[in-house]
Amino acid sequence: MTHGEIIGTVAGLRTTFEAGTTKPLAWRMRQLRALRALLIENGAEIEHALKRDLGKNPTESQLGEIGFVVGEIDYAFKRLRKWLRPRPVSVPGSLMPARASVVREPLGVVLVIAPWNYPVQLILAPLVGALAGGNAVVLKPSELAPATSAAIAGLIPRYLDQRAVAVVEGAVAETTELLAQRFDHIFYTGNSRVGRLVMSASVKNLTPVTLELGGKSPVYVDDSVDLAVAARRIAWGKFMNAGQTCVAPDYLLAAPEVARALEPLLVAAVREFYGDNPETSPDYGRIVNDAQFARLTGLLADGRTVLGGASDASTRYFAPTILADIPRESGIMQQEVFGPILPIVTVSGVEDAIQFIREGDRPLALYAFTEKDAVRRRFLTETSSGAIGFNVPAAHLAVSGLPFGGVGESGFGAYHGERSLEVFSHEKAVLSKPLTPDTLRLIYPPYTERKDRFIRGLLRKLS
Ligand code: NAD
Repeated sequence: MTHGEIIGTVAGLRTTFEAGTTKPLAWRMRQLRALRALLIENGAEIEHALKRDLGKNPTESQLGEIGFVVGEIDYAFKRLRKWLRPRPVSVPGSLMPARASVVREPLGVVLVIAPWNYPVQLILAPLVGALAGGNAVVLKPSELAPATSAAIAGLIPRYLDQRAVAVVEGAVAETTELLAQRFDHIFYTGNSRVGRLVMSASVKNLTPVTLELGGKSPVYVDDSVDLAVAARRIAWGKFMNAGQTCVAPDYLLAAPEVARALEPLLVAAVREFYGDNPETSPDYGRIVNDAQFARLTGLLADGRTVLGGASDASTRYFAPTILADIPRESGIMQQEVFGPILPIVTVSGVEDAIQFIREGDRPLALYAFTEKDAVRRRFLTETSSGAIGFNVPAAHLAVSGLPFGGVGESGFGAYHGERSLEVFSHEKAVLSKPLTPDTLRLIYPPYTERKDRFIRGLLRKLS
């Protein structure tokens, strides 16, 4: 899209919004139903696009992309009417008689910018909230998943109200142009460098932003758990989508004897999932592009290779790789891995693990495999992260009732379920007081001694 086309698109959406088209509950429900139909009727085309961009297995595409969004739609669809009801709140006695409530109103025209790793989920799950909230929306898919971007750009206008939902494909130039426009909310998922650019751009119009970022999500394992189960779950969370998952366990922390015991179990889990040669497995994905492939290759310098290490630049196959005895200051510990390499760092115990985690940025997710209540409590109270998963990685994002988002360097704001509606709505305070009796007379000037005594008494009662 050219500069002029982007301006025209956003202006068109604003006209639609101002006309009130997107406000009625019936319109919102119709759009959600249409989005659901888009996903169901075009599952094969979307799966195909994901296969081309990321080598994603169709079952995994259902699990983490198509089915995931359908689940979010169904959850919202069932509850939307209730969520949009005015929520009464109590009024202090001093203001009675009166009624107070909170009503949710649409924000206006919103922008959703998505990354390439879950290129369907991360553009359409926010869209569910934006539509439920009654907004007009610009979707900006990632140019790094071009087949999926094209599929979304082709399908959205066929199913959704074109007056209210537009897809702008493109890369930095188009996104920069979009960010120069006025929006009523910007929802960005991706890395924190661009997150900062998005936030800077939002300042001009005081546009609220949600930043869904990444970072290094640790997993700690102690000796109280069934290590074979832990290994399977960690391998699943790590190697799905070839490790290109924002909530994948980034690195593993364990005491030396636990780490040693886990090594063969992790290897066995990977073999169970992807066979002896994952390169030939239809279930194992590929690295998204050459730049990411080169970056990952550069992370193999340190540690002892327990598994993997092989790769093929021509197909961007990167074997599931496990590296043990990783020094804390090594290169792989200085950046988000975001690929199929699991570094294992040994710690002396839970104290050391917590200390190490606290020295880094606050992660998007933190996982602890333990059966000990005291250890759980320590992680819960002594660390801060977007989410915490006990004995299971990544799955918390499939619980629609849980907020999904980061803290600190992993972002701010959260969505999924009702929170997606919250993100894309303004909560308007409504107070309504009958004209008679005019009880406010008691606090109008002139402030006589009697009124002063009354007001002071009233305020003391309220505090
Ligand atoms: P990406 O490169 O696709 O970028 C994301 C979006 O930003 C794209 O739409 C892209 O066009 C746009 N963009 C890129 N450069 C830009 C610029 N200079 N100005 C304006 N827009 C620009 O994806 P990515 O950032 O590589 O995604 C990976 C990161 O995202 C990882 O850190 C990962 O952890 C994080 N992530 C977070 C979540 C979450 O839900 N919190 C989910 C997935 C990924």
